[in-house]
Amino acid sequence: MRALAAYAATPDASRGRRHAEAPSSGRSEFQRDRDRVIHSNAFRRLEYKTQVFVNHEGDLFRTRLTHSIEVAQLARSVARSLDLDEDLAEAIALAHDLGHTPFGHAGQDALNACMRDYGGFEHNLQSLRVVDVLEERYGAFDGLNLTFETREGILKHCPVPVAATLGDVGRRFVDGTQPTLEAQITNLADEIAYNNHDVDDGLRSGLIAIDQLAEVPLFKRHHDIARGLFPHASERRRINETIRRMINTLVSDLIGTTRVALARLGLQSLDDVRAAGPVVAHSAEISAESLVLKRFLRDHLYQHYLVQRMSTKGRRIVGDLFAAFMGDPRLLPPQYQAKADIDRARAVADYISGMTDRYAMREHRRLFAIEEI
Ligand code: MG
Repeated sequence: MRALAAYAATPDASRGRRHAEAPSSGRSEFQRDRDRVIHSNAFRRLEYKTQVFVNHEGDLFRTRLTHSIEVAQLARSVARSLDLDEDLAEAIALAHDLGHTPFGHAGQDALNACMRDYGGFEHNLQSLRVVDVLEERYGAFDGLNLTFETREGILKHCPVPVAATLGDVGRRFVDGTQPTLEAQITNLADEIAYNNHDVDDGLRSGLIAIDQLAEVPLFKRHHDIARGLFPHASERRRINETIRRMINTLVSDLIGTTRVALARLGLQSLDDVRAAGPVVAHSAEISAESLVLKRFLRDHLYQHYLVQRMSTKGRRIVGDLFAAFMGDPRLLPPQYQAKADIDRARAVADYISGMTDRYAMREHRRLFAIEEI
């Protein structure tokens, strides 16, 4: 087996699981985490949850599932180049969006607004709640009983007052220490994935045009190269060439910059990683270029009126469902009624956030359309 760097997270030195379990004979603890995530209900639901485009808008657009798989691919690839634990990076990547609501960020914002007086709703925290509490796959305990390292990676950010209530997994936000390098990589792999696939999906949908992207240097540079190399290829093929090259530039920059930082800081162990500042990073030039791309996507894609219309519908559906279930918990399926007896708002938020886009739309019709049962 390939030797890992001294500052890698190693499954044998894991801080362990909340419920003690016998080790697996053939798999490392982080491989087991990855496998548990893949077999969870929440993971399968990602297929029908919006990334930017609602699932029924087209078969080629990213969903939360394909997004998570792309993040896992990038995270593994960077982790391997830096001699870090690929399985941990993959487990975190596949789990990072498990707590996402239907209808993307619009759904999360709407649910957070509904939950304002009940502790709020945040998808990162909900991803942790899914793996710690909500999955029902084991007789002996709730959740998936993942290792500390995967759980802390899932909790990408968290306000200090909330983190203080979470025990060991929230402590780093209180004392200002860092998670594993594998977690830091996954965080940036997430950004690389969505910035690039949103350009791809944005162009494919026709909501953004190639000409507009001329104001994004990272895109323009690579598109010019693709045009020069393949003057007779179709525009679609050149877009794919461009995006492939953009991803390659971002990933290479991330690996190179991080490698230099690791050497400069002379990190010798995971404890050193935790005590240092954030180590995994892009160079200043590429960070600036990524920011231009991000702003472009915000202004031209996420705020496009057709995306806004869909977001507004999503917010309305989430708001209506929340009001209906809070007003009368007898409308909830029986297993959620029992939970609502203990904490009504949290049970309703758990139910709604677990819904896929199409399930939420169907549930909305069942509750509000008189001819629907
Ligand atoms: Mg993500």
